[in-house]
Amino acid sequence: MAEYFLEPLATQPASFQVHEKNCADLQSKIDATRYLGSYGNAQAPLNKALGLHNHVDFCPTCLKS
Ligand SMILES: [Zn+2]
Repeated sequence: MAEYFLEPLATQPASFQVHEKNCADLQSKIDATRYLGSYGNAQAPLNKALGLHNHVDFCPTCLKS
């Protein structure tokens, strides 16, 4: 299991990235993220985030698909 966080990006329209907790890109901005929960794979938190927002992707650093 890993913990996943959702980062709001400064884009228009608003888009979001799903990170794993230990992502190097996440450490400086974890306060601005939303905790998605603990899951056995990355698809589950992505699906959860897609239920909240229209534009959500995996972080290219920690969750390359
Ligand atoms: Zn990441």
